[in-house]
Amino acid sequence: MEKFDRWIGLRHETQRERVLLVEILAAFVPRMPLIYIIMLVNLGGLLIAVKGQVPFLFGAGAAIFLLLAARLTHWLRLPSQPLSEGRALKELRRVFLLGVVITTSYCAWTLSIYAVADSDSRNHIILFASLAATGVTYALSPLPSAAKVPLLLLALPLAVVMIASGQMVHAAMGMTLVSLVFVMLKLIEVQNVTFKRLVNSRFDVELEKQRAEAAERRAVVERSLARKLADTDVMTGLANRRALLGAIERQSGDGMGTIALALLDLDGFKAINDTFGHATGDELLIEVAQRLLALTAEESVMVARLGGDEFAILLHGRSALHAKKIVAAAIERLAEPYGYDQRNLMISACAGIAFRDGTDVDPGQAIRMADIALFSAKKKGRGIAEVFSDALELDARRRAEIELALRAPGVENDIELAFQPIVDLATLNVCSFEALARWRHSQLRWISPSEFIPITEQISVVERISEVLLVRAAAEAVQWPE
Ligand code: GH3
Ligand code: MG
Repeated sequence: MEKFDRWIGLRHETQRERVLLVEILAAFVPRMPLIYIIMLVNLGGLLIAVKGQVPFLFGAGAAIFLLLAARLTHWLRLPSQPLSEGRALKELRRVFLLGVVITTSYCAWTLSIYAVADSDSRNHIILFASLAATGVTYALSPLPSAAKVPLLLLALPLAVVMIASGQMVHAAMGMTLVSLVFVMLKLIEVQNVTFKRLVNSRFDVELEKQRAEAAERRAVVERSLARKLADTDVMTGLANRRALLGAIERQSGDGMGTIALALLDLDGFKAINDTFGHATGDELLIEVAQRLLALTAEESVMVARLGGDEFAILLHGRSALHAKKIVAAAIERLAEPYGYDQRNLMISACAGIAFRDGTDVDPGQAIRMADIALFSAKKKGRGIAEVFSDALELDARRRAEIELALRAPGVENDIELAFQPIVDLATLNVCSFEALARWRHSQLRWISPSEFIPITEQISVVERISEVLLVRAAAEAVQWPE
């Protein structure tokens, strides 16, 4: 079958070849009914031409008539939309094979009438048969193998019979018909090249379009993947800081009410890393993320990891009370034991909450406010939640100013020493002095040691300042009487 298909020009190995088959069939769908109408009219015309000389539907004529009518109905029933590649192959094979059968029987029938017809009728038979052959050939041109059939199996035998008839006029007509056959054979090839080129270029355009569409689809997928990656914390799969900032920005624009942002930071997480290793620390962070997600699954909230052991819960359009309840539940849930390697690890978390109203919330500002509240909660102890307030803001500002002042060069010279005597109660003698740091800043005024000493520790200037104060205290002590 493969060989036969190749022989009649129905190659179907490649996609391009299969598309060509569908295109040929598509070209045939409107043409084939016309071909059969031509043949039927022609048959009728022939019968009228030889009326009285042969019986009605003489010999094979009846069978040919029925076959033509059946094929006409078949083609009229074929849908106009493109048919499948397999269907196209089957239909085109049938076009060729039935073309051979119909043409051969039509030729045999025509020649048998020709044999019994009178001279006038023979002229008509020649005219009808040649018109049928050339008309059908023209209509079948998209499939050259089928288009050649009427020329080779009808027009050519007829021409040979005419040349062999011995009548000059018929022989001349036969010769003309032969040359017409050769011209048409050539034309079929030329026309087919053009047809194939047209189909091929349509195929190339379609292929290019499909490639462009596929590339566009891939680009869309990659873009959304990149966006997702850029917005995701790789370790926990939660939203990251960038995504959180974006969400606050979007929510503040939709006018749906209060935005509540809670920052949660685990208490003493470094100790988990130091004691059980970084890998266990990672597992714990992942578990924390899952607990927070599970807890807020039903709410219109976003859970994010900002980095390290710091997480965020963003609620939108809920009451302050509701937000506080969720944060309290989160703190409670995070304090439950974490089972690893038959060990129960315990950790707690502090939270700082900031509420923002309005349509122009600055995400950075919201995070800063929640961070101030978190700092205050941390100062108070473990597992504490604190809500941002203006007082906390003032505290934070003062702390920042103290921090700045402590970093300034020569700050140790501004810190004074106060000596507090230590009295031996048994003898009531002064046995030693305790040197105390006292700091009155030009702008910040009196700063209590309980305020600035923890800050010197946190910003790591405590050693530098202590050393200078110690040297100064020692120098002064040397001057004192024994
Ligand atoms: P505090 O009670 O004041 O919150 O102190 P802390 O020990 O929890 O430590 P802090 O919050 O100041 O710092 C978080 C620590 O988390 C710092 C770092 O050692 C650790 N860390 C940061 N990122 C990761 C991580 O991806 N995996 C692990 N295992 N540890 C991390
Ligand atoms: Mg922490």
